Amino acid sequence: MDKLDNINELLCKYNYAVPRYTSFPPATKFTQDISQSDYTALLKGLPSSNAVSLYVHIPFCHELCLYCGCNTKVLNSYSPVESYIKLLLSEITLVGESTNGKLPVNLLHFGGGSPNYLKPNDLKLIVAHISEFFDISKQTSIDIESDPRHLGGEMIKAFVDIGVTRISLGVQDFNHDVQIAINRVQPFEQVKACVKKLRDNGINKINFDLIIGLPNQTIETVTDTAHLAASLSPDRLAVFPYAHVPWMKKHQKLLEKYPMADGKERFLMNEAVDTVLKSHDYKAIGTDHYAKSSDSLAVAQNNGVLRRNFQGYTVDISEAIIGFGHSSISSFKSAYVQNTITPADYRNAINNGEFPVNRGVKLSENDQGLSRLIEELMCNFKVNLEGYKDYIGSDYSDKLATLIQDGLVIMDGMQLIITDKGKPFTRVVASCFDPYFEKQENQHAKAI
Ligand code: SF4
Repeated sequence: MDKLDNINELLCKYNYAVPRYTSFPPATKFTQDISQSDYTALLKGLPSSNAVSLYVHIPFCHELCLYCGCNTKVLNSYSPVESYIKLLLSEITLVGESTNGKLPVNLLHFGGGSPNYLKPNDLKLIVAHISEFFDISKQTSIDIESDPRHLGGEMIKAFVDIGVTRISLGVQDFNHDVQIAINRVQPFEQVKACVKKLRDNGINKINFDLIIGLPNQTIETVTDTAHLAASLSPDRLAVFPYAHVPWMKKHQKLLEKYPMADGKERFLMNEAVDTVLKSHDYKAIGTDHYAKSSDSLAVAQNNGVLRRNFQGYTVDISEAIIGFGHSSISSFKSAYVQNTITPADYRNAINNGEFPVNRGVKLSENDQGLSRLIEELMCNFKVNLEGYKDYIGSDYSDKLATLIQDGLVIMDGMQLIITDKGKPFTRVVASCFDPYFEKQENQHAKAI
């Protein structure tokens, strides 16, 4: 059987909808069975000496990219942003008054949306307000996601003033036909100029996000994009699979008039990008990231301490992440708590002096064990099941049988190893340990 026949067979068997496992249980299993008092207890339970991480969601963008799966809104006036900032500051106060003093912060991450939609002074105001309730020090990393089409000198100066350590630029694809289809035209020269401006101002840790599976992409276009991206020498690249979920994001329907890669083409595009990035000396990290070998993500992978959370692969070791803003998710050892999704619910809760808690899940001791197992698999492609015997169901070996037979997984005693052939199907392997997983379309994006 030649390689392509084998890929076809594997895709037929295993390319079904599975969670991304940025959390376990995944967000699709969140329910409304989590209350204000649960959240208060979780915040109060954080030890004052343990550092936490903070996530701030800025749900605004200048234009809508048609592939977008984020909680964001395109505005034509800044006044809703001003109202949002007032609510955000109140939420920070509410949370800050519920913790045991000023907790030290490992990582402060601004995501969205486009955090650079904010006016520079508003970004500074948010950081200053956070500093009143949390200990933001020289040890704190500040990461911010940005849209390179709208990143001006004044905002870069604000980044320097607040001490931004790392910036993630949405690049996605450099091909013009792809950019037209996705409604995100940003020529290579524009991104190149943005990277130069950041480096000229001393912001040297730069990440790029690329996407595989967008309309009009071919193996040739993604190969060109990967070469161009690498030529700008970012420290890290995330190469995400496009998640086509039009039942949740209606605007994605507009992409269906363009040719879009099927599972096999996406598989081959991933291989092509992998070859290019490795030829530029990037190391593959987990299932969908690349980093220079000097980057902390590569170092963490080498040392077996890579982590995975809602932001993807990370070196952040905080046991708790507190989220602020609509739809943001807070993560604790024993629970996930998500804020209200709609602006009206968020506003009403904050104006009533309540946490804008909407849904989440409490993790039993068994869930916590499985969460560690799945994270280990997603980060290291191997796990010793001996340490997880008390958590895994007795049927896991039946579920793994076909994966072993197809050469995707090897069992060496209780040590499970995902082979190179199996790595593209890592999420499928992880799902064998997920007791809540059911094969269902329209719940998650497909494995490839
Ligand atoms: S800039 Fe990012 S968050 Fe905003 S619409 Fe585009 S993909 Fe979505």
